[in-house]
Amino acid sequence: MCGPKLGGKKIAILGSTGSVGQNALQIVEANPEKFSVCALGAASSLAALAAQAIKHPNAFLWLPSQDKADTLKKMLPSQFAAKVFWGEAGLRQTLAVSQPAIALNAISGAAGLPFTVAVLNADIDLALANKESLVMAGPLVANLAKAKNLKILPVDSEHSALWQVWPENPGQIRQVWLTASGGPFLHFSLEQMRHITPAMALKHPRWRMGPKISVDSATLMNKGLEVLEAAFLFDFPLARIKAVVHPQSLVHGMLEMVDGSILAQMGPADMRLPIACALAYPERLPASWPLLNILELGRLEFSAPDDKRFPALNLALAAGRAGGSMPAILNAANEVAIEAFLNNNLPFLDIAVCVEETMSRLPVVPVACVEQVLEVDSNARRVANNWVSGRRNKC
Ligand code: MG
Repeated sequence: MCGPKLGGKKIAILGSTGSVGQNALQIVEANPEKFSVCALGAASSLAALAAQAIKHPNAFLWLPSQDKADTLKKMLPSQFAAKVFWGEAGLRQTLAVSQPAIALNAISGAAGLPFTVAVLNADIDLALANKESLVMAGPLVANLAKAKNLKILPVDSEHSALWQVWPENPGQIRQVWLTASGGPFLHFSLEQMRHITPAMALKHPRWRMGPKISVDSATLMNKGLEVLEAAFLFDFPLARIKAVVHPQSLVHGMLEMVDGSILAQMGPADMRLPIACALAYPERLPASWPLLNILELGRLEFSAPDDKRFPALNLALAAGRAGGSMPAILNAANEVAIEAFLNNNLPFLDIAVCVEETMSRLPVVPVACVEQVLEVDSNARRVANNWVSGRRNKC
């Protein structure tokens, strides 16, 4: 159904107006002989989506609601109207008519889970930037991809790093290391951390990212989510996946082999590299981003994360060990707490407290299907929101 002008590998980008989505579009636009955009989807930033649609007139367009679809149609010339879809059924239609070779899920947060499932159900390889999909429903998503013989191509930089050095025989791996920049508060005292504002948390020292993941990086919850993501993505034991603070963010992931060798992937702290790796696989694209000058690297530092100032990492590991519904509970409480923090309704240090309290109030139950995960998610949101309201009333 895509027009004859579309050449190369057809890519659908869900979450095209966010940071990863925009970077993916840059890669596609820089390599027109390799890729074309066949579908674009966004939950917000409609003006930006309209501009992307004008630039990629063959792309089908998806929005979460009819309201938003109607608003977008009004922003575009009339010939675009037939290409605009909305809602759950519209997502299936978008994937069916646009026929992507790869769909990139670059939606932020738990909202990304239905996209992951829809893409795999449509028999399409998934480039995954939405780590929450795997955190919430790791075994279900991994089994679905396996049953359908589909690829989940990692876009998260640490997972892309591991993927790039992953051996044919994973039995050779002793443990896996994910690096964490440590975020903007790496050297803050607990007292200083009491006064962290949203503006401070949104200013990441190494990566340019959206607000949710920026706060996750500042609490180190991001690394906890990534440990769970890695366990499901690589089917590797959680207990042998470790986080290490590496402020330079140049080594992204390491495999420590049984013989003591450490295989590491290094590269510029630029999301275009892991995105390009996923989209071009098994090829590699010439860099259209600044290269790392190894002669100017200077020092590379590594240290253990401080679990007193950054308790979120251990909460994520505990949720992973508990399994079942607990990772989805952790994720939902974290999203509620971040939103409250960004709205100045919760102190930074209470993000982890909200997560811990919500986890302690809900039972671990086995999860058998995605609908059940979504139910766990909304239940945990209710409990976390109640906790936040109670906390506010006390202040
Ligand atoms: Mg990452």
